[in-house]
Amino acid sequence: MLKGKVAVVTGSTSGIGLGIARAMAAEGAKIMLNGFGDAAEIERLRSSLAAEFGVTVLYSGADLSKTDGAGDLVRDAEARLGRVDVLVNNAGIQHVAPVEEFPLDRWDAVIALNLTAVFQGTRAALPGMKARGWGRVINIASAHGLVASVNKAAYIASKHGVVGLTKVVALETAEIDITCNAICPGWVLTPLVQAQIDARAAREGVSVEQAGRDLLSEKQPSKKFTTPEQLGGLAVFLCSSAAANITGASLTADGGWTAQ
Ligand code: NAD
Repeated sequence: MLKGKVAVVTGSTSGIGLGIARAMAAEGAKIMLNGFGDAAEIERLRSSLAAEFGVTVLYSGADLSKTDGAGDLVRDAEARLGRVDVLVNNAGIQHVAPVEEFPLDRWDAVIALNLTAVFQGTRAALPGMKARGWGRVINIASAHGLVASVNKAAYIASKHGVVGLTKVVALETAEIDITCNAICPGWVLTPLVQAQIDARAAREGVSVEQAGRDLLSEKQPSKKFTTPEQLGGLAVFLCSSAAANITGASLTADGGWTAQ
């Protein structure tokens, strides 16, 4: 379905971004991977994706927390792959602390990556999408883009910001075959969440397995983690012709979290 298209997936060396990059490669898209990690491991990932799906897969280590890192990534993909048709703004970080103890440098770091990089990457990708008359911008927000929890001020502000930005971009591109949507996952078992489970296990003196179960039952009525594969399927659906008139939407994949 995505043969001939180029997809840039930010933060795709791990977790959800990797699941989405895999799903897009399986549909025939050329992929620009991005994110941090061990260089040999990333190269293994890049070459195995390319071999498994018979598509071009490149990698950029652009640091999206830098002022225009996301813009540089998009321009790099355009230079090396010829175009950017699908931009998945996925890279994100978390910091957990009560508001009055939340360090300003952590606030700035979360906002820079989770929100400003989405703005910068989208700004860079839209002119090419408009020139070709087709584009898909998919922002990985969160259930925390729709509702709040304690101790996550910067993350929740950033994800609510992403949901708002998604609507603005959708309106500004509404008459072109460009859509901009937010995916709002609940808990997905990735390194980002594993760190929170490990911290909870240590804090409460319970096993990591128990802490994982407690985390789920607190928020996610299905009591099942959403998977990177499911989110890959949803992102591919948003690129399909069936989804051509879905824009400005926030699609939850949260096991009922935000239905409560
Ligand atoms: P993860 O930690 O597994 O992956 C994050 C990715 O971002 C990695 O590839 C990492 O290298 C990359 N990254 C980090 N800092 C970067 C930077 N400065 N520049 C470029 N890349 C950078 O996290 P994840 O759980 O897969 O999260 C992906 C997205 O999904 C995030 O935006 C997160 O907020 C969102 N999300 C996650 C969950 C969850 O339960 N895991 C739920 C809702 C939303």
